[in-house]
Amino acid sequence: MNDARIPADLPDHIQHYIDGAFVDSVDGDTFDVLDPVTNETYTTAAAGKKADIDLAVASARRAFVEGPWPRMLPRERARVLHRIADIVESRDARLAEMESYDSGLPITQALGQARRAAENFRFFADLIVAQADDTFKVPGRQINYVNRKPIGVAGLITPWNTPFMLESWKLGPALATGNTVVLKPAEFTPLSASLWAGIFEEAGLPKGVFNLVNGLGEDAGDALVKHPDVPLISFTGESSTGQVIFANAAPFLKGLSMELGGKSPAVVFADADLDEAVNATIFGVFSLNGERCTAGSRILVERTVYDEFVEKYAAQAKRVKVGSPHDPTTEVGALVHPEHYDKVMSYIEIGKTEGRLVAGGGRPEGFELGNYVAPTVFVDVPPEARIFQEEIFGPVVAITPFDSDEEALTLANDTKYGLAAYIWTNDLKRAHNFAGAVEAGMVWLNSNNVRDLRTPFGGVKASGLGHEGGYRSIDFYTDQQAVHITLGEVHNPVFGKQGR
Ligand code: NAD
Repeated sequence: MNDARIPADLPDHIQHYIDGAFVDSVDGDTFDVLDPVTNETYTTAAAGKKADIDLAVASARRAFVEGPWPRMLPRERARVLHRIADIVESRDARLAEMESYDSGLPITQALGQARRAAENFRFFADLIVAQADDTFKVPGRQINYVNRKPIGVAGLITPWNTPFMLESWKLGPALATGNTVVLKPAEFTPLSASLWAGIFEEAGLPKGVFNLVNGLGEDAGDALVKHPDVPLISFTGESSTGQVIFANAAPFLKGLSMELGGKSPAVVFADADLDEAVNATIFGVFSLNGERCTAGSRILVERTVYDEFVEKYAAQAKRVKVGSPHDPTTEVGALVHPEHYDKVMSYIEIGKTEGRLVAGGGRPEGFELGNYVAPTVFVDVPPEARIFQEEIFGPVVAITPFDSDEEALTLANDTKYGLAAYIWTNDLKRAHNFAGAVEAGMVWLNSNNVRDLRTPFGGVKASGLGHEGGYRSIDFYTDQQAVHITLGEVHNPVFGKQGR
């Protein structure tokens, strides 16, 4: 079929990558991968289970114990990471095409994500070389220093939203610090993950350092979490999955980093620049198809400007362009998978009984096939509503009025989540006081979620455990051994000379 949407070289089967070779599952099992625009199977992927995870972990463990990677100088590893970034940058258009086709993400946004993936590798390459020297001196008396050691085989479990970029966010620091890895990407979107293997080979990453096992969470993911030779798990996904992983990792006391779900508030005060706030909060929930962990999916608006805000918001939401992910003018593409589409649609039906629908509300006109959802806006949504409390993870927003700063804060904190918060006000004191009081791991003041890679990334409450980003990622992926030397008089109290 001559369809411009279909990338050249689309594989008709996706394999695991273990010990430097592409392989199928030990039991030969596969699962179907769907095109989100047609929901037809476009390829199959090897369905990994415990036996495949065992092989991948053994390969990663061998590369860790016997291979050069953990023993290389940081600047030698950094050179490989920079080469990886170069390759990703040079193929950004092709990577974006693949990612967009597999996940339904609009092509222009997929391109931005591919470039961010390259930046992640560059950032961690530079960071590992610039690593502040952990030496603490007490002049004439003591030197204390920290040996940072890679931990071993890192298990990386990733979700289907912006998969390539989120994988780079874990692969970059895990590899920079000298660990070896087993990646278990999300089963809805295995395509871009399979491209890492070729990129790494070309960049000169030693054999066995990177291993990839595809498969379902309850099979391959579960086996990775329960493998005794995997001392740390970095997981991004739903909070409920995080709870299962937490419990399964507990008997091993594994190192855990969890980036989980969100239902982040965007709080718009009456003194804010309303047009700017409308624009940013539209982008904040409808970009990346609304499949964004930090989406500002609850908008709280001060009552004195509520009607004006709602009117402008609904009018602009109706103009957001839904279209083929391949079309460069598309703003909202197709949701990733029919299962997820059904979940989002069921929340829209629930929303119709909980709030007042002012835009969208289902499948957009002219889209008979595929996982298309019109940007949907509910207003007057009470805080007890499910669409206020629960993560929908699609292009659906709930808008609620408030009358005072106190009420805004109560509403902002009134869910189990605590990932991000966006505050729109021109009152400096109010902005900083609100930022300090809101229960969120990340706060943006008069801004969309642009962030510097040095800052911590993570959530509180049900949105996560631990932070990654900058040195926090380096801390997570290394053991920090403190070494103490006494230079001056030795502190050596005499014990055991008083007895008979
Ligand atoms: P998910 O939890 O269903 O799956 C994530 C990954 O975990 C997949 O690879 C899956 O196969 C695996 N998995 C599932 N069950 C498992 C188990 N029992 N043991 C081990 N692994 C298992 O999440 P999803 O639907 O792929 O992703 C969407 C979710 O991710 C949303 O909740 C979103 O908010 C969250 N997310 C969070 C961040 C963040 O940084 N906080 C970023 C992106 C996405």
